[in-house]
Amino acid sequence: MQDCLFCKIVNKEIPSSIVYEDGEILAFKDINPVAPVHILVIPKRHISSLVDLKEEDETIIGKIYGVINKIAKQEKIAEDGFRVIVNCGENGGQEVKHLHFHLIGGKKLSTKICN
Ligand code: AMP
Ligand code: ZN
Repeated sequence: MQDCLFCKIVNKEIPSSIVYEDGEILAFKDINPVAPVHILVIPKRHISSLVDLKEEDETIIGKIYGVINKIAKQEKIAEDGFRVIVNCGENGGQEVKHLHFHLIGGKKLSTKICN
């Protein structure tokens, strides 16, 4: 997708700090981390947001959670715990319109999940 920041990251037109990559999924460090571990996990194929998911996208969502599981172990946050966040749309605070899963951990997070 032209003019999509994360598609450009997928295509290596914009540099990123990649922590995981396979044929369908890319994970890279968030440029503005809110915790010691803050990684974005995305489908390589452009899906704009959670509300744009189609039935055929359900398989990739399952795979993304599998990758999150792997990265959490790789980053040594699996035991202490972590949070996964998907912002969706205007009210959800989604800034980049390419579906992404925030994997956040490495410190005790606030019990408030929204504000
Ligand atoms: P959201 O508000 O859910 O759309 O999250 C977008 C995230 O992308 C934010 O946490 C940004 O810090 C992050 N971000 C923006 N540009 C880049 C970039 N070039 N590389 C890595 N992360 C980025
Ligand atoms: Zn995109």
